[in-house]
Amino acid sequence: MQTTDRADTDWAEWAWAELTAMARRLLTGATVWAGATCTPRPAWLLVEDDHVAALGASDGDQEPPPADQVLDVTGCHILPGFVDVHLHLSQAAWFPLGGDASAWRGLADALHAVRVAAAAEPEAPWLRFWSVARWRWPEGRLPTARELDEAAPRRRVLVSTLDMHRGAVSSAALATLGLSDRGQGQAGDLGDDVTRDRRGRPTGELWEAAYGIALQRALTDAMAYAADAGAAAVLAAEANRCLALGISHAHDPYVSPDWHQRMVALRASSPLRLSWGTGSPAGLHSRAPGPAEAPDGPYGDAGREVKLFADGGDRCAIRLPSRALLGLLGGAAGESWRLRAVGPLREALRRKLVVRPQQLHTPYLRYTDAELASVIAAYVGAGVRPRIHALGNLAGEQTARALRRVGVPPGAATIDHLLLLDPATADQVAASGATVSYQPGFIPRYGQMLLGSRVDRYTTVLGGRLLLQAGVPLAISSDYPCGPLDPLHNLRVAVGRGSGPASQALQPDQALTPQEAVRALTVAAAASLHAPGGGGLAPGEAADLAVCDGDPFAPSTRVTQTWIAGKVAWRAPDGSGELPSTPTPG
Ligand SMILES: [Zn+2]
Repeated sequence: MQTTDRADTDWAEWAWAELTAMARRLLTGATVWAGATCTPRPAWLLVEDDHVAALGASDGDQEPPPADQVLDVTGCHILPGFVDVHLHLSQAAWFPLGGDASAWRGLADALHAVRVAAAAEPEAPWLRFWSVARWRWPEGRLPTARELDEAAPRRRVLVSTLDMHRGAVSSAALATLGLSDRGQGQAGDLGDDVTRDRRGRPTGELWEAAYGIALQRALTDAMAYAADAGAAAVLAAEANRCLALGISHAHDPYVSPDWHQRMVALRASSPLRLSWGTGSPAGLHSRAPGPAEAPDGPYGDAGREVKLFADGGDRCAIRLPSRALLGLLGGAAGESWRLRAVGPLREALRRKLVVRPQQLHTPYLRYTDAELASVIAAYVGAGVRPRIHALGNLAGEQTARALRRVGVPPGAATIDHLLLLDPATADQVAASGATVSYQPGFIPRYGQMLLGSRVDRYTTVLGGRLLLQAGVPLAISSDYPCGPLDPLHNLRVAVGRGSGPASQALQPDQALTPQEAVRALTVAAAASLHAPGGGGLAPGEAADLAVCDGDPFAPSTRVTQTWIAGKVAWRAPDGSGELPSTPTPG
């Protein structure tokens, strides 16, 4: 290597630039999670241009082939690049510009933060706050519009819960959204998604579709306020956060048709593989308007896709045995006792419940069977892949039924979440041929709440094992920002099932093996999008790599390099984990 006339440049940076231009690069000394099964073994890996050219066992008969450059990554683990099939990149990108409400302990904290932000940002079109853990609040409810008005007079305020299916807005925001009236016009169409007082006036609490409309409007206004260059920078920063965690492909399940071109531009300017689904321009949780309204494809690195909601997030459709009634009430009462406040019990009693012989239902399906089948048929007929949100088992069962009724071929649809499941529903999902994307990262985040509500006594929660046993193709995703983004964290929880600080494992029999977890976050995830990476690290497959500085399941291990299509898309600032060595002869 010629370094003589480069004494004044940073050698490592220069060497790095040189080696990214090399055609054949050999990585040696690592444990490679190889093939479609993601089997870890000591191996060398040859990357040629954008693909894996060869790999072989370190201790095998086959000598590593000659290469332009050898990278000694002894002690590292090389995994396929992480493919997150449910990552709200276009929305999460704006979170750093709003207030983080995750540490608020109740209404007083909320109103104080709103007051401070109103004074600090007199010009901002909206005051936005994210990630409220409402179930930990003694009041068990969000601030009312009137309370927000007092804290920030005449300002538009949006306070969002952690699950992004419910929020609170001020009176000025209600007016902007056309929701100030008593049930006429748009507000009337939203039904129970707008909470009203006894006189029919909106209280400021919004659910599901109404919440999604507020979110979309607040972010669209933020985007306009940031102007073009600002908005592009906000999105680029989010793409970089993904790269730094080993994510080689991020799939945003919902991008408003109005934001489609922004995503096309982001894909053109970032090495990150990026794809997305579409839906209603009104908002994430509104009914998708039909394939005629969908932008032409492709949508980045995957084909056209639409996001549909079989149930809500905060209001999910569950079926439980009737004996669960006392248990659930007991759980809510227990939480109220723990917090010394009526909030959790009052919240539980606000839920609708249909009592049938032998069964309880929460009646929160968002379509009838016929409606859901017809919207799926319309999109599938137009070549648009459906991605269907089903959180509860009742919604999962309805979705599986609709997919079979329409005759959607195996692998042509994805069901998201199936947070609460039972064996019969898992079998029906398997028979539908859909891939399931689930979020083990929810376990530490929501596990204590789920344990507190005792719902784990009557259903399988985030049942990775149940789904695999039923024969469902299983993908792990983050649902960031509703769940944590870090893929290594999510892999570890899929295996460990630790539910939080107290570390009580949530249904440990639902754990995946490390190999199953890696496969679900890479190979199976890519295959579900028909995107590069569906064959794992094998000859001819895309050279998308997440290089870790140790065993990915050890808590201190970090991603040090992210490769996409044979190029280093990101590496740790300290350059740890590798240094170029000499070329091999040949
Ligand atoms: Zn989501």
